Amino acid sequence: MDWQKEDLKYIWHPCSQMKDYETLPPIVIEKGEGINLYDINGKCYKDVISSWWCNLLGHCNPRINEALKKQVDTLEHVIFANFSHKPVITLCQELMKVLPEGLCKFNFADNGSSAIEMSLKMSFQYHYQTGNPQKKRFMALTDAYHGETLGALAVGGVDLYSELYKPLLLDVIRIDGPDCFRCPYGKCRDNCDCGCFEKAEEAFKKHADETAAIIVEPLLQGSAGMKVYPPLYLKKLRELCDKYNVHLIADEIATGYGRTGKMFAFDHAGVSPDIMCLSKGLTGGYMPTAVAITTQKIYDAFYDDYLKGKAFMHSHTYAGNPLACSCAVEVLKILKDENIIEKANKRAVYFNQIIKEKFLPLKNVGEVRSIGLINAIELVKNKETKEPLDSTKRTGYQIYKKALEKGVILRPLGDVIYFNPPLIIEEEDMDFVTDIALECVNSVLT
Ligand SMILES: *Cc1c(COP(=O)(O)O)cnc(C)c1O
Repeated sequence: MDWQKEDLKYIWHPCSQMKDYETLPPIVIEKGEGINLYDINGKCYKDVISSWWCNLLGHCNPRINEALKKQVDTLEHVIFANFSHKPVITLCQELMKVLPEGLCKFNFADNGSSAIEMSLKMSFQYHYQTGNPQKKRFMALTDAYHGETLGALAVGGVDLYSELYKPLLLDVIRIDGPDCFRCPYGKCRDNCDCGCFEKAEEAFKKHADETAAIIVEPLLQGSAGMKVYPPLYLKKLRELCDKYNVHLIADEIATGYGRTGKMFAFDHAGVSPDIMCLSKGLTGGYMPTAVAITTQKIYDAFYDDYLKGKAFMHSHTYAGNPLACSCAVEVLKILKDENIIEKANKRAVYFNQIIKEKFLPLKNVGEVRSIGLINAIELVKNKETKEPLDSTKRTGYQIYKKALEKGVILRPLGDVIYFNPPLIIEEEDMDFVTDIALECVNSVLT
C-alpha cells in the first residue's frame, strides 16, 4: 500500500499549506523510542521538537506505557459531572506538591486551547459575580500564542495565525511585550530592570477598570520564535494585577513541566498566577488533556445555592479522562524518582555551549537564546542591524527539508531554528542533531 498517497487522499494536515505536500509528502511513522521516531521504511528521525513540544520523557516510555495499559483494563472513561475516579484525584494530590502556592482547584479540559478558553470565561464570570460586571476585556502581549480556537486566537498576537480572523475575534488590549533580542531600550536580557514594563503600566492605568485578566506565556513566548524574557517582568506583573484587581493567567502549556529548567516558569519569579493552564507536558505527550488550575478565592465566587445561578456551566466531554490522568500521574512519579529536571539542567549547560560554539560564528546568526533545554537560533540577514531574512524565501522551511533528509526534525518557526527536545536527550544526540542542523543552515545560506 502507498501510505503517503492514501494519506493525501483523505487528510487535511494541521497548520499546513497542503500544496507543499506535493514536494514534501507526509512522513508515515511506524514506531517511536526515546527521542527517535521510525518511519514505515525504517528510517530514523530525531524528534528534537518533542512532537510539537508535548513529548516529555521520550516516545513509548516503558513506565508510562505500563501505567496506561493497567488503566485501560480498569476504566477507560466516565462522565465527570458528579462522577470521579482515583487517577484524577491522585493527579491533583500529586500536582499540589509541585504547584506554585495558592493554586488548588482543578478544572479539566482536553486540549490547551480549551483550557485557555475556560480560564478567560472563569475570570470574566468571577468579576461579574463579585460586583465588577464592567470587567469584560482581556489584555495580552504582542507576539503571544495561546491556541487556535476563537477566544484563544483573540488573545494571541501572532498575525500568521490570527490576522485573517480578526473580524471574528474579541477586542483585546494589546501590550507591547518584552523583545529582548531587539530591545528598544538598548538593554540586554540578563541585565535590565524591564523598562518595557512601562507599556503594561500604561495599559493598566488606561484599561484596568474594564479588564478581567491579563494572559501571558511566562518567560518564553514559544510560537513567537522562542523569545525569552526575564522573571522580573512576571514579578512586576503580579504587583500590578494585585493593585488593579486584574487576574494574572499563566499559560504554562508550553513552559510547564521542566521546559524552562524549573517545574513551572512562574517558579523562576517566585510568584503565583491566579489561573494556570497546563497541557503539553502533562501526560508526557501521550493523551490529549489539559487543566486550568485556580485559587480558592476564585472558586468561592462560584460557590452558592444552585438557584443563584453562579455555577461555572462549562464542560468538555473528555474532561478528566482516566487514561490521560493515569499517564499524568506516572509522569510526575518519573520526574521525581529519576530526578529528570535536575539531570536535564546539567545536560542543558552542555547543549547550550555546543550550540553557541557552532552557530554564533555564522554570519546569519543574530542570536542564540536558551532556557532549560530549549535553544533557539535566530537567523538574520544582517548581524549588526538584526534585519530579518526575507521571509518569502522561506529559509527556515528549506533548512527543515534538508534536515529531514538527514533524519532530524527541526520544524523552525519562520527563520528561527530551535531545539525543544524531550528532557531525556543524551549528549551524543545533542552532538548529532546540532551537527546536522549546522550542515543544513550552511548549505541553505551560502
Ligand atoms: C500549544 C499551545 C497552546 C494550545 O494548545 P492546544 O492543545 O494546541 O490547543 C496554547 N498556549 C501555548 C503557549 C501553547 O504552546
